[in-house]
Amino acid sequence: MPKPPLLSSSLRSLQRAQRACTRCADAGYITRAHPVFSGSADQRILLVGQAPGPVEHDQTRPFAGRAGRQLMRWLIRAGFSDEDDVRDRIYMTAMTTCFPGRRPDGAGDRRPSAAEVGLCAPWLEGVLATLRPRLIIPIGSLALERFLPGRRLDDVIGAVYDESGSPLAGTPEHVPVLVPLPHPSGQSRWLNDPARVALLDRAIVQLRAMVAWAGTGGG
Ligand code: SF4
Repeated sequence: MPKPPLLSSSLRSLQRAQRACTRCADAGYITRAHPVFSGSADQRILLVGQAPGPVEHDQTRPFAGRAGRQLMRWLIRAGFSDEDDVRDRIYMTAMTTCFPGRRPDGAGDRRPSAAEVGLCAPWLEGVLATLRPRLIIPIGSLALERFLPGRRLDDVIGAVYDESGSPLAGTPEHVPVLVPLPHPSGQSRWLNDPARVALLDRAIVQLRAMVAWAGTGGG
């Protein structure tokens, strides 16, 4: 369902301001601010990852690298026809929207600090307030901490939740609903356990139902 023009222009203003943000560079956490996110006001699904990686930074495109390809495979299993369909229907952002750089030991990307998450939080909160998504997909433990605080991936993957963190069954009566997923990055060891792969399979089945529901505009 298209959003009223006022909300569209509010979101565009927010996006313009976010693209110009240099808070983390100014504070010395990163060398260069280059916010990466994508989306528009007519999207009903919000996906929140951890932070862009170097490929996303170079292409200014969320989930453009190897982890993104894994995520696209999961989302296609959840009812999207292909990657274009995913990007058409999902607003994609992250807990921090600039590449945080590599870890000092070179083993993957650095996890953003709580201070960086705090600096970037107003952008995420602004998107939540203007987009008013029906379905939120937190990806990985950092996003989980924002949407289902104090919960572990093992305890939440495979189910649907309301905004207060209570599990949901059946057709949701209130928006937004949450379907958390693990992070698709190869850096994450979480999916090395077959029992957790089974949890992911269950989450994708749940997500498929919620994606269909989010597209109805009802509820
Ligand atoms: S990560 Fe967020 S707060 Fe930090 S510079 Fe980028 S857009 Fe700004």
